[in-house]
Amino acid sequence: MIYLVSACLVGINCRYDGANSYSATVAAFLDGRQFMPVCPEVLGGLGVPRAPCRFFGGDGQALLAGSAQILDRDGNDLSESFLVGANKALAIVCSKGITSALLNERSPSCGVREVYVGRYKVPGMGVLAALLVDKGIRVMSDEEPLI
Ligand code: SF4
Repeated sequence: MIYLVSACLVGINCRYDGANSYSATVAAFLDGRQFMPVCPEVLGGLGVPRAPCRFFGGDGQALLAGSAQILDRDGNDLSESFLVGANKALAIVCSKGITSALLNERSPSCGVREVYVGRYKVPGMGVLAALLVDKGIRVMSDEEPLI
């Protein structure tokens, strides 16, 4: 089995601030397992570093349904870039026969249980997580017990 993994969790400097979110817990889980690191925001053409982004009007599921947006802090609508990146990551998932993804909590792309909508942290999913769930892929948060 190959796991799709948020690239920042395995130490790749792809976060909006140019840093990573390396997790020793994730590294221990992936030890001896095959995995494919992916950053959907980089796949969507967004640079590193980049302005932080948040949802408005709903989460990733709402964005997929056309009823939400992702804006950066300057008010630029980057929804299309997020959708392009998530779909490119999905194409990788399909081409590799990946059935599980381990994603970084609260990101507007990778969040599994919580995201920021406006100024508020709310239950919801990032764009990639929502797209993967819609396609029947198991998504796991880096903050849940990994088994
Ligand atoms: S989009 Fe996902 S992989 Fe890329 S930096 Fe954000 S949380 Fe990490």
